[in-house]
Parts: sequence; C-alpha cells; structure tokens
Amino acid sequence: MSIHTPAAEAARRRTFAIISHPDAGKTTLTENLLLTGGAIRAAGAVRARGEQRRTRSDWMKIERERGISVSASVMTFDHAGLMFNLLDTPGHEDFSEDTYRTLTAADAAVMVLDAAKGIEPQTLKLFEVCRLRDIPIITFINKMDREALDPFELIDEIASKLALDPAPLYWPAGSGGRFKGVLDLRRQQFLPYARKSSTDEEGHPDPVALKSNAISTHLDPDELGELEEGAMLVQEAAKPFDPQSFLEGHMTPIFFGSALRHFGVNQLLEGLGAYAPPPKAVKATRAGDETHVAPGDAEVTGFVFKVQANMDPNHRDRIAFLRLCSGEFKRGMKLKVQNTGRQLSVNSPIMFFASDRELAEEAYAGDVIGIPNHGVLRVGDSLSETGALRFAGLPNFAPEILRRVRVKDPLKAKHLKKALEGLAEEGVTQLFRPIIGSDFIVGAVGQLQFEVMADRLSGEYDLDVIFEAAPYAEARWLSGSDADIEDFGSKHRTAMAEDIDGQAVFLAKSAWEIGYVSERFPKLSFERTKERG
Ligand code: GDP
Repeated sequence: MSIHTPAAEAARRRTFAIISHPDAGKTTLTENLLLTGGAIRAAGAVRARGEQRRTRSDWMKIERERGISVSASVMTFDHAGLMFNLLDTPGHEDFSEDTYRTLTAADAAVMVLDAAKGIEPQTLKLFEVCRLRDIPIITFINKMDREALDPFELIDEIASKLALDPAPLYWPAGSGGRFKGVLDLRRQQFLPYARKSSTDEEGHPDPVALKSNAISTHLDPDELGELEEGAMLVQEAAKPFDPQSFLEGHMTPIFFGSALRHFGVNQLLEGLGAYAPPPKAVKATRAGDETHVAPGDAEVTGFVFKVQANMDPNHRDRIAFLRLCSGEFKRGMKLKVQNTGRQLSVNSPIMFFASDRELAEEAYAGDVIGIPNHGVLRVGDSLSETGALRFAGLPNFAPEILRRVRVKDPLKAKHLKKALEGLAEEGVTQLFRPIIGSDFIVGAVGQLQFEVMADRLSGEYDLDVIFEAAPYAEARWLSGSDADIEDFGSKHRTAMAEDIDGQAVFLAKSAWEIGYVSERFPKLSFERTKERG
C-alpha cells in the first residue's frame, strides 16, 4: 500500500501566511524561511525572482509601475519531512481584499512585529481577519539586532491590544548593539547571537546550557543576571504555552530574532512544524445538506480564493488559485465547478516552488495549485470531482472606501455595467447598485483596488472611468427576516442598495449613523462581512 494516502500527506502540510505592517520585515523573513527550508540558496532571491518574473511575463502594468506586488502568490518548500506552503500576502499599505481572502486559505499565520514598534495599525487589521477565521497565530518579534522596546512592553501590547495570551518560548538578552542572543525557555539553553553573520553559511555559535561555565563566554555577569531575572519574571507572569489554546486562537507562542541576520528563523520554522496545524476538516454542503470535508476524504475538493488576471495581456488567461481541501489531486483530473456545473480538465496545474513554477503532478489538502483558465473560474468557486460540494463562501469585507464610478464616454455606459459586474464577480472590487437612481457605487478596502480596477477597465474593456466621491462612508449587509429588512428598506430608500448577489445593503453616511439605526432596528443586524458562495 502506498504511504501517500491523502490523510498522511495532508498531515504533513503546513499552510501559512505572514501578516505584518509594511517594513516590519515580511519579505526578509520570507527569504530567510526559504533559505532555512532549503528552497533557495542565496538571500535576495525572492526579490530577484520577482523582477525576473515581471520582465519575463509582462506582469501587470501597475505592478511594474509601482514596483510592488499586487498579487499574492504561494511558495512551497519541503523541509524536515514536512511540506510548507507559504501564502504571500501583499504587504503594501494599500492592501486589498486579496490579502484578506488569502488568509482564508491559510491554516496558521506568522505575525511579524518590528521590535522597536510593536503592534502597528495594519498588523491589527490583519490580525482581526485571522481572529474572524480562528486562525492560530505565531508571533515573531523581528529586528532584535536594533534597539528594541522592552520585551515586557511588547508582550503586554500583545495581551492588551490583541487580547491574546502571550507565551514566549524564548527570551531575549538585550537588543541592538547589546543583543547577545535568546534563551530557549523550554530547554534552558542559550542561543548566542553573532553580530557579523548575515548568511546561513556563517551561522551563529552553538547553543549552550544556561547553567554551564560556557555561558560566561557569551554573557557577562550583569547580562546573565538580567537575562535570568527577566526569564524568571516572564515565566511567572505569562501562562505556559498550551498548544490547544494556541490552536483555538487564544494564545500565541512568541519567538524573538533578526530576519536580516538570520537569527531565530530556524527556531520559528521548527515552531511552525511542531505547532502550526495541518489542514483540518472544513464545513461544506453537499447537494444542500451540511457536511464536513476531511483532508483524508477520497474525493478531491477545493475552493478558489484568488484569481489573477493579465499575466499576459495578449491572452485573456487567468490563473485561479485553488486551495485543496481533500483527496489526492492528479494532473489531468476533471473537476466540476459547483455553481455553474462546468467541468474542467486540469491538465496544466501549476505549483509554486520557491525556485520556480512547476507543473503539479499531484497535490493534497493544504496545497495550493494554480489553474490557468479563460475566465471559467471565479473567486469563491468550489471545485470537486462530483461538483456537488460547496464550501462556505469566502467573506466579503465591508468596504472602507466607497466611490461613484462614471465612464467618460457616455455612449459606453451600458458596457460599464457588464464590466463592473465582471470585476465584482472576480472580487477585484465590490459593486453596489442603489435602489434609486442609476449610480454605480464601488467599494474597496484599499485605494489600490481602484487603481487595479481602472487599469483593467481600460486595458480589458476599453473603458476610461472617473471615480467620484460617493455620499456614503460605510456599507453594511443587512441580515434579519425578510419582513424586517423590507420595513427598514422602506424607511431608508435613499440609502438602500443591492450587491451583485442581490443582497440588501445599507449605505450609511457615517459610522455614527450605523450605530443609530442599529439601535432603532434591534431585530436587524448590520454585518461587516458577508460570506460569499
Ligand atoms: P516588509 O515591508 O515587511 O516586507 O519589510 P522588508 O523585509 O522589506 O524589510 C524592511 C526593512 O527592514 C529593510 O530595509 C530590511 O533590510 C530591514 N530589516 C528586515 N528585517 C530586519 C532585521 O531583522 N534587522 C534589521 N536591522 N533590519 C531588518
């Protein structure tokens, strides 16, 4: 019997994403994780590869112009008997819903904090999405080679701002010029930091037992005293690491290091292997009945969490990123799309190994494969062999920016509707049609989404558009009984809209207004997220 059963293969998958505020060191950490994982040989390859890719395949114009990565991709590497799938979330300030959706395909997240800054606004935003999805979080406090905040202050911030129990597995000795290394609190071993080394080859000195004479070659008596006292205090103050509490999203194990100096990265990868969960059973419906899809189930199933278009503007080819949820996928397999019933022969699926793209011969739950297609696959689609399975939809997030969109050439107004619907179905931006009037209101969580939209409207649909301020600041999906929604709608006709699925949306002028109406209509809820499906 083959040992490659879907269950055994899924059990060795670790599919995770990195969340951070721009500049905290996500790219550097990604690179160093790939180095540690043996996926790349030299640091600098992640960016170089990005450059190459852009020049080679004429990547999205906007991506080239702005020199940032608009599109999330995935990198796969095999290390210590495990298969790691690292989902890359765009780290730019103007992030988009892609970032959020990518997190729905991750089983765990690494939260990178800049040791000098602690929790920054975007870390918090992304964290909230993780919490919404109950994604367990591992914390990596980066840049310890620079002057850092007091580590107690950092763990207090995690506790107070994120309401997570901090569980340091390591404790730092100093920071910046005085950074000497970290103490492994579980093994009572000291990992010395060697300032000069910046690559894996040079390495850092071997660990030494805390209670050994050798410790004096790395720490002077004052430093040792300070480290021992800090370690003792933190062990008294913090709850011990409880893997179950971590998996339930209540606790985060904390690592300290320097991605740039390749310090602490091996420990982080080891922690990911040991504690991050393999793919778990996912809620779904089969022909309308509720069910669970377990990674070891025989049927191949998955959902599309991202569609990337315009990899080559001359061809309308798109790559749909499919997160597998069960079964043993084999190249050439036929899969059916649940909502359209269309069948797809997956002859050239792509897996994204860090070194390059490769054709995927087989893949299992937790893996992500890219499926080239001509617009057949949409974000949120469920794929399976029978075509009967439907995964709970991917969430839409209440937009933070709303704009009215107009086309410059009034003769093309008709085309605009179709184009906007197409882009909304793909998940580029959201579309709201007010009940009264003929406006198109588009919504996004980041400014960049509008640029992507304008770029695609002009490139693919030959439509030049203008975005204007909309008289609305917030959008909320209404949920409640039909009668209650109707009653509310009749009293707020000028603020009511429908999204592309025809669901009722309240467009509010301010956050205050939402508070006001929710008090007056207690039977309705005004939702910030909507599951698509
Ligand atoms: P991202 O925006 O989160 O992807 O951050 P980058 O990985 O691009 O890093 C931002 C800046 O911080 C770059 O100049 C890095 O060289 C630097 N950096 C990243 N990690 C470290 C670290 O551990 N120590 C120091 N001193 N600098 C770092």
